[in-house]
Amino acid sequence: MSTNLGWPSEPEPSPEHRRLGWLARMLGGVSRETGQGPGSGDTGGSGLGVGGGEAPEAAVVDATLVAGDGDAEIDTPGRTDVDRAEPDAVEALADADADGDHGRGDPGGARGSDAGPEVLSSEPAPVEEEPDGRDNASREPVDDDRTEASGPDDLTDDETDDEEERPVDNAVDDAPDNTLSTQEPGVPAAGDNVVDEEARRRAYADGHADREALVAALPTVDDDTPLARELADNARRRIQLTGRPFPKPAAPRVLTVANQKGGVGKTTTTVNVAAALAQSGLKVLVIDLDPQGNASTALGIDHHAEVPSIYDVLVDGTPLLDVVQPCTTVESLFCAPATIDLAGAEIELVSLVARETRLQKAIAAASEAGHSYDYILIDCPPSLGLLTVNAMVAASEVFIPIQCEYYALEGLSQLLKNIELVRAHLNPPLHVSTILLTMYDGRTRLSAQVAEEVREHFPEQVLRTTVPRSVRISEAPSFGETVMTYDSTSSGALAYLEAAGEMADRGAAGAA
Ligand code: ADP
Ligand code: MG
Repeated sequence: MSTNLGWPSEPEPSPEHRRLGWLARMLGGVSRETGQGPGSGDTGGSGLGVGGGEAPEAAVVDATLVAGDGDAEIDTPGRTDVDRAEPDAVEALADADADGDHGRGDPGGARGSDAGPEVLSSEPAPVEEEPDGRDNASREPVDDDRTEASGPDDLTDDETDDEEERPVDNAVDDAPDNTLSTQEPGVPAAGDNVVDEEARRRAYADGHADREALVAALPTVDDDTPLARELADNARRRIQLTGRPFPKPAAPRVLTVANQKGGVGKTTTTVNVAAALAQSGLKVLVIDLDPQGNASTALGIDHHAEVPSIYDVLVDGTPLLDVVQPCTTVESLFCAPATIDLAGAEIELVSLVARETRLQKAIAAASEAGHSYDYILIDCPPSLGLLTVNAMVAASEVFIPIQCEYYALEGLSQLLKNIELVRAHLNPPLHVSTILLTMYDGRTRLSAQVAEEVREHFPEQVLRTTVPRSVRISEAPSFGETVMTYDSTSSGALAYLEAAGEMADRGAAGAA
């Protein structure tokens, strides 16, 4: 059993917990600003509503769990009609939110401490490969003090060649025109990429022997040279992963990417997973529900004040497809952008009819009009207000990115409580289906301990893949791109591709 790192079911930090916090602070490493907040004494159960797949009848809230801290009152089991949403529920959520952790993440600070003295283990740094053979003059990492190993030439050359000659990419380009590109932006007709999908599958199958040969040709590296071994492993994974067509989900999946902490990687995860799914043959829509509009920026989507946006959908009832824009760097990826107007939507929504279900209805209307996406990912703001409630009502799955940092788990019980409230009152199918560990730093024991702890509590939900802390990932948005196109050979892109593949496999198997 690992050291307790602040798992929220512990009302008070244990002495070990404190010692570890003290140690981490003394060593100057981990995110100090995410320190213990008002919500830290939560006693919410760790198993709240995360089993998934429960029948609507089971949506009856266990009041002792949900109202454990006294600020959420639930007294009417079985009220599941979304149109009869109780104001109580929303108020309870708002109360709960007030107790929660609002945007106290540490995006910048934590990033700057990559190679700081917090390095607790002698493990090699996670490797981030330089993309050989790319014109990268303007994309040099800024002041990155981490190891940026370019590794043995034979490995990276092989990979890059493989990347450039991917039959799949050609197959996509050569395939009969996808209706996506000729019709109204964001208006994919059902089944219009069947040909594409077939071509991808064939191309990937045809390349099997080549891939195997390439993998076999990679030098065997022993444990004495861990860096080279890691490079070789990465090369193998990349060769096997790139170009694999992902299976379509049994039914369209709508996932809300939520975590009330800021700076934990919600937006980064949303856009990169979405891009990875789209690059692998699926039709994906990102709904940017954060007034900051970071997801829109990262996808290179115009979102200045006059652009039709998700605000118009929520407040004015504009059809969703009227605001959707195609992403120019990834085919079959679309985005409903957020503009600054959205900042006022929390207030404006309060007085509107069916304020919690407006996004759900907009998505349903688009689907009824015959336009469906394989995946819809909703990027939430770092709070639990009406925007996040709309996202949770519109989705059937919650996808939680967790940063592998100290206090990462704090506030999680509050999030789980809110999910439970929404499930009980507004959206019975809602469940936590996926958890992704992000910003993993293989050099620190802390990252490993956080990962171990999360896996222990959520064995079913946590993806095997962890996303490493990667300079390329954080640079990509400033170029209006995801890391999947900005540097598709980087370890960050590989991790997101792998994570998306896991998600897709689970979705196709009906396990999500
Ligand atoms: P959130 O949406 O939860 O607020 P973001 O996705 O915006 O979080 O991430 C916060 C910051 O951390 C951003 O600057 C982003 O570029 C950076 N970041 C996210 N994931 C990683 C990663 N794996 N490696 C390095 N930086 C990351
Ligand atoms: Mg964000």
